[in-house]
Amino acid sequence: MAQLQRIAIAPSQFQQGQILLTQEQQHYLGRVLRLGAGDRFIAMDGLGKWWLAQLEGDQAQILEALVVQTELSASITLMVALPKGNGFDEVVRCCTELGVSVIAPVVSDRTLLNPSPQKLERWRRIAQEAAEQSERAFVPEILEPVAFGTSLSSVVHYSSSVNNQQYICVARGNSPHLRNCLHNKGYSTNDQGKRTIIIAIGPEGGWTPKEVECAVEAGFQPVSLGRRILRAVTAPIVALSIVAAELESLKTTT
Ligand code: SAM
Repeated sequence: MAQLQRIAIAPSQFQQGQILLTQEQQHYLGRVLRLGAGDRFIAMDGLGKWWLAQLEGDQAQILEALVVQTELSASITLMVALPKGNGFDEVVRCCTELGVSVIAPVVSDRTLLNPSPQKLERWRRIAQEAAEQSERAFVPEILEPVAFGTSLSSVVHYSSSVNNQQYICVARGNSPHLRNCLHNKGYSTNDQGKRTIIIAIGPEGGWTPKEVECAVEAGFQPVSLGRRILRAVTAPIVALSIVAAELESLKTTT
């Protein structure tokens, strides 16, 4: 099954055991991948489900539902202050491959970029392609860019649940390492529901002291990603790698 091509299909395209393919998808399957009638591919809805499908002209027949187990055991939200240039494209691509659930682009006090509306569409397309490539069951949600303060208020209500953890990465100082914080929190199969981990990463110029203060008030713990200063594009990828490694090497207790 691994060799079959995966494509994301909108839920509205599924009708009575058939997939109504868009012109773009027909072109991609027929002209780019050179698939013909009777050839198979994997259709994913980006919401956790995969199906084995068979091409039949401008439609495809669903043959069977498939089981996918490529998601992390926790939901990870990244709040990322937009870096300069096209740096955010790389953040979206790599963090999708690493298993992020939600990416919230934020405009902080020292953010230099003012994103155009076309950027959001581009980031969502990159997330979809990266999810297909990395065999994710879910396509991560990319939220509209908002001010850091607005983003903080929208996640404050999470802080009351024991299953949720919130971290703000600060490049200097004596904050504990993210890995140690995750490790100390542990995770047990007795925990109710899926854990949510929220991680905030600053821009090239770093967070202002006021921003860190507001995040702490909102329940975020300042953490380090190590002794070196990472670029604004590298830091989210490193943070996600640490979380994924910690979650996937967990020995669950019963
Ligand atoms: N100009 C800032 C300074 O000198 O402190 C560095 C900013 S860094 C390029 C961009 C962001 O990446 C930081 O705001 C932080 O969120 C994250 N970051 C980079 N290196 C880090 C580290 N070693 N530990 C924690 N966060 C880090």
